[in-house]
Amino acid sequence: MLLGAIADDFTGATDLASMLVRNGMRTVQRIGVPPAGEPVPDADAVVVALKSRTAPAAQAVAESLAALAWLRAAGVRQVFFKYCSTFDSTEQGNIGPVADALLDALDAGFALACPAFPANARSVFQGHLFVGATLLNESGMEHHPLTPMTDANLVRVLSRQTDGTVGLVPYAIVEQGAGAIRRTMTGLKEQGRRYAIIDAVDDRHLVAIGEAAAGHALITGGSGVAMGLPENFRRAGLLPQRSDPGALPMVEGPAAVLAGSCSRATLGQVAFAREHLPSLALDPLANPDAAALAAQALDWAADKLGSTPIVIAASAPPDAVAALQQRLGREAAGALVEQALAQIAAGLVARGVRRLIVAGGETAGAVVQRLGVRSLRIGAEIDPGVPWTCTEGVGGEGGGVSLLLALKSGNFGARDFFLKAFEVLE
Ligand code: ADP
Repeated sequence: MLLGAIADDFTGATDLASMLVRNGMRTVQRIGVPPAGEPVPDADAVVVALKSRTAPAAQAVAESLAALAWLRAAGVRQVFFKYCSTFDSTEQGNIGPVADALLDALDAGFALACPAFPANARSVFQGHLFVGATLLNESGMEHHPLTPMTDANLVRVLSRQTDGTVGLVPYAIVEQGAGAIRRTMTGLKEQGRRYAIIDAVDDRHLVAIGEAAAGHALITGGSGVAMGLPENFRRAGLLPQRSDPGALPMVEGPAAVLAGSCSRATLGQVAFAREHLPSLALDPLANPDAAALAAQALDWAADKLGSTPIVIAASAPPDAVAALQQRLGREAAGALVEQALAQIAAGLVARGVRRLIVAGGETAGAVVQRLGVRSLRIGAEIDPGVPWTCTEGVGGEGGGVSLLLALKSGNFGARDFFLKAFEVLE
C-alpha cells in the first residue's frame, strides 16, 4: 500500500478514492477505523472514512490518530488528510487540530494545505478561497448550519485553529511549477512555518503541487490536490501502469434503487426513472412508521425483483418534506425515513438484490451501517464523483455476500443516472 488517506466525512472519502482510481491507483475505502490486525486490502491506496468534520476536536483527533496508526501498520509511504474543498471547519477545528496531531505523530514539521478543486469551481488565489467567482464567505457557506465559513483568507482561518504558524505559496510561484513550489515550501519550513496554504486555480497547478510534495510525510487538502500524487509513485517505480484500476468483480443479481434524498437532482432522477422502471413512492406522512413502510415496500417488490431494476423512493418536494417535519419534528422525520430505507435495503439484500443504488448522503450512511458494510472497493465513475463500488467483507445482515453499491450524494448525477448506472455494468 502506497498512499493512506484519512477523510473527515463519508462522501468526501469516496470523492478522493474516485480521484485516485481515475489517476491509476487501485483504491479501497474503509468505513471507520479498521480494527487492529484486520488484513490489509490488496490496493495501492486506502481511504479511511471518518465522521470527524463536525465532531468535538478531541474526538476528531483521537479517531484520526487511530486511523493513522492502522495505516502506518499497513506500511503506507505517504499520508493524506482529506477535508472539504470549502475548508469546512470552525475556530476550534477540526482541520488545524487534526493536522497538528498527524504531523506530530509522523514526526514531521511541515505540511501543505490546499483545498482547491478547480473542476468543481473551488480555487485558491493569494490564499483566498473562491467558490466560482465568489469569495467563500459570500458563497452561502457563511450560513452553513454547522461550519459557517465567514472568512475567505485561509492563512487566517488555519492560523486560528493551530498554535503553529501558516505561510503562503502564492500564485506567481505556483505558476513556475514544481521546483519553485518545492523551494518556497522549504524556505517557509526553514522560517519555522508549520503550514503553507498553496494557491491553485487550474489542474496544472494541482499536478505541480503534487509533484512538489512527493517527499512529504503528510499532505492535507481536498481531493483535487491528490490528482498529482499517483504519478509520484509511478515515477519512483513503485506503482505500475494499471490498465483498469477500477476493475470490480462481476456480481449477478437483481437491481434496485433506494432514494432518500429530496434534492432537486434526485427528484428529477426519480421522476425520470418512474417513466422507465417499476417505481414505488413511499408516503411517510400517511404511514409514519418505519417498519410498516418497509413491510409495504418489500411486499410491493416481491414479484418485481429480476432483470429490471426497481425504484423505491421517499424523495418528496419541499412542501411534503415540511409537512412531515411539522408533524414529527425535523430530526425524527429524517430518522424515520432513513430507518425505513435501511430496513428496505436489508430486506432487498436478503431477497437476493446484489446491485443497489442509494441516493442521499445521510440515507447512504444509514443503509451502509444497517448492511454492516465496512469496506468498499472503488470502481469506475458513473457520473462525476459517483463510482460503482463493491463491498468487501460485508458483515451484519449482508451476511458475507458481495454487493455492487453506488452511493450518490443527493445533488450529484445526471437526470438519467438510475438507468445509466445499470447500463454501464453490462
Ligand atoms: P442529500 O444527499 O440530498 O442531502 P440525505 O439523504 O443526506 O440527502 O438527506 C435527506 C433527508 O431527507 C434524509 O434524512 C431523509 O430521511 C429525509 N427524507 C427523505 N424523504 C423524506 C420525506 N418524504 N419527508 C421528510 N424527510 C424525508
